Amino acid sequence: MAIRFALGYRTVSFEAASLLVRFPPLEILADMDAKMYKRIRDLRQSGNSVPGIVVVRLRREERRHALKRWRELLQQPKFSCKRVVEAVLQYFEAWLKRKQRISYRLTQMLTEHDCFGQYLNRIGREATTNCHHCGGAIDSAQHTLEECPAWNTERRVLVARIG
Ligand SMILES: [Zn+2]
Repeated sequence: MAIRFALGYRTVSFEAASLLVRFPPLEILADMDAKMYKRIRDLRQSGNSVPGIVVVRLRREERRHALKRWRELLQQPKFSCKRVVEAVLQYFEAWLKRKQRISYRLTQMLTEHDCFGQYLNRIGREATTNCHHCGGAIDSAQHTLEECPAWNTERRVLVARIG
């Protein structure tokens, strides 16, 4: 589901796709809910009433802990989606608050799983890593973003917009 929401290729890792669509791992969400349940149960068992405002505060606190755990998990070097993690972790909180759905093009650029010579060569779909637009030796997302003359117009628009 995360890959579908991210509009990514099926070869995109689960960690990358779930980060792109801002969906924390289920074990972290389950742990968050278990802690919430235990805290509310403990308050009630000790004779306290638990008004809605307290539940909201506890939920906010446990969510903050869960997101901290997710961030720590993503910082472990075991993931193959380093490009996605490095890009998103710099702006993790802002990324999580983002209202727009991720676009196909952003997923392409972050995952590098698409019509890039380097990727297609790696999965056996192209004989070389060359760029079909300019003949460059390595066609990658970074090549498209920074170097390929075929995208000069789009690059100028992007640079004018975001610097
Ligand atoms: Zn090129």
